[in-house]
Amino acid sequence: MNKHILIVGAGIAGLATAHWLTRHGFDVTVAEHAQAPRRGGNGVDVRGQAIEVVERMGLLDPVRLAAADVRAMQFVNAAGRTTARIPITEPGATEIMRGDLVALLHDRTGAEHRFGERVRGLVQDADGVTVDFGQAPGERFDLVVGADGMHSSVRRLAFGPERRFVRFKGHYFAFADADAALGSDRAVTMYNSPGKMAGLYRSGNHAQAKAYFIFRSEPLGLDHRDTGQHRRLLREAFADATGWRVPQLLETALADPDLYFDALAQVQMDSWSNGRVVLVGDAAWCASPASGAGAELALVGAYRLAGELAESGGDHRAAFGRFEAGLRGLVRRKQQIGPNVRLMVPETNGGRRFRNALARLPILGPLGAVERLLQGATPPLPAYAPASLGMPCGESEPPSVAQRFRDGLMAASAR
Ligand SMILES: Cc1cc2nc3c(=O)[nH]c(=O)nc-3n(C[C@H](O)[C@H](O)[C@H](O)COP(=O)(O)OP(=O)(O)OC[C@H]3O[C@@H](n4cnc5c(N)ncnc54)[C@H](O)[C@@H]3O)c2cc1C
Repeated sequence: MNKHILIVGAGIAGLATAHWLTRHGFDVTVAEHAQAPRRGGNGVDVRGQAIEVVERMGLLDPVRLAAADVRAMQFVNAAGRTTARIPITEPGATEIMRGDLVALLHDRTGAEHRFGERVRGLVQDADGVTVDFGQAPGERFDLVVGADGMHSSVRRLAFGPERRFVRFKGHYFAFADADAALGSDRAVTMYNSPGKMAGLYRSGNHAQAKAYFIFRSEPLGLDHRDTGQHRRLLREAFADATGWRVPQLLETALADPDLYFDALAQVQMDSWSNGRVVLVGDAAWCASPASGAGAELALVGAYRLAGELAESGGDHRAAFGRFEAGLRGLVRRKQQIGPNVRLMVPETNGGRRFRNALARLPILGPLGAVERLLQGATPPLPAYAPASLGMPCGESEPPSVAQRFRDGLMAASAR
């Protein structure tokens, strides 16, 4: 059995995979290049099958307790008047700050964690993988899981250069800390000028708010490590946006040492594994923040990858094949981000007016319900057999419709 597994990246995908693999009895090391878990980011959604995964992890109550409590998305004009407002609560689902979810997962992995560790080389042979962490000799692992995000080094080392897999989607985005006084309580407030959006994400139970920006652009030759370039590009893109509170928002974002800036891009790969190396999360299928599905896919992917490895007794060939077969459909659906991008960043003033008119009609609620119905039609999550540790790793039955309904009511009444 392949027992000794290295996971590269301590984001949501890496930590959730570590949780499940250790629970299935594998011996897991997590290597993260940052010096501590990275806690940046806005709210992320725990929805769809990710709710069930989090419940099976025993984390549903802590996740709900830490919920970001954001109830609406609102669009404002240059004077700050609200032109449309969309409720964003969804039965059963929870929005949680990315950093809070990372902290909850980090406390629960049961794995060995190594921070400040960077993988420099991977060499596979018939029995395992030799990993170069910059110190000779290399370390041996049976399998390596790349959970190191959109700019994955594991993917580069085991599959080839980034340009073969990362597809630019015509926009750039940024997240940063912001002054909560700039936006409304429990709301995501967005201001648009053609091809641009500046917004403020203000949770009901966090002192700090998050600014975020999206702008349409030709490719700009981004270096994802060059933070000076990121600040310059963001400043230039919003230099002419003087409406609402954009100048103040921009000023605080540019002063944030952890400003997060990247291309809105997706990862598309024919296969998520190569021999003894497999990818999970954004490294394999990044759907982009515009999908609203990064955390959901990471949690479901982690659960399936670890479960398939356990189910196959560590036979990576069988496990990686089934992992992909079980997840491809969901990933494909979540990568359809066109409508979300048009909603957040209309290209023209006409498009913005049309979006606002649409948002005022009572159709988005029913559309959400249809989407949830489609979600419900996806094959249920497998309940992977208890592993060598002999502890239950999933429920034998998926939650009943009545249980889901009660969960929805509980979530609604808690808000
Ligand atoms: C700081 C940050 C803020 C984010 N904010 C948002 C947000 O506001 N909204 C949103 O929708 N999505 C956001 N994302 C992306 C979101 O977290 C993912 O889409 C989703 O959760 C899937 O996560 P992941 O674990 O696959 O990748 P990520 O969350 O990107 O995690 C990858 C991890 O791998 C680490 N890593 C990268 N390269 C290496 C390496 N060579 N060696 C070791 N470790 C490495 C990174 O430091 C990171 O901890 C953010 C990601 C990060 C890292």
